[in-house]
Amino acid sequence: MESKIELLDSLQYIVENPTPERPLRDWVGENLTNIEAFLDRRDYLKLKRRGLIGALSVLERHGKIEPTEFESTPIDYSEKHCRYCGNDLFWVLPGKTSRDDIIEYAQRIGDEQIAADAWIHPGVYCPNGCTFVLFNIARNSDPETTSSENDG
Ligand SMILES: [Zn+2]
Repeated sequence: MESKIELLDSLQYIVENPTPERPLRDWVGENLTNIEAFLDRRDYLKLKRRGLIGALSVLERHGKIEPTEFESTPIDYSEKHCRYCGNDLFWVLPGKTSRDDIIEYAQRIGDEQIAADAWIHPGVYCPNGCTFVLFNIARNSDPETTSSENDG
């Protein structure tokens, strides 16, 4: 990678041609030195921490793509693959997803914080960082029925 233009072209290619085998996360990992050299700190952090959303905002900022409208399409419980890259989605459901599942997922995506906590907010996640939806788990309004949730 010799220039900012080349770097942005390469980023755009990865964003527009996603595959489970070559996730954006890997591209960012392989290109950290170039990202640091050719882009500013703000772009660097966006790419490093914000997955697809960060990448789109960097491409927008440099005029490579038109601003993206994120529509919130309701996700279906039967969905198993990321609509964007096709990778297996990780569903985190209270009472169903075990600490071991979470640790395994954390190791797969290389997130030491999640592995250490063995906790992640209930929701559905793409391991490539393309997408996530958080769930608000409504508690029963009757105080007597909200007792034993921490017996795992
Ligand atoms: Zn994905």
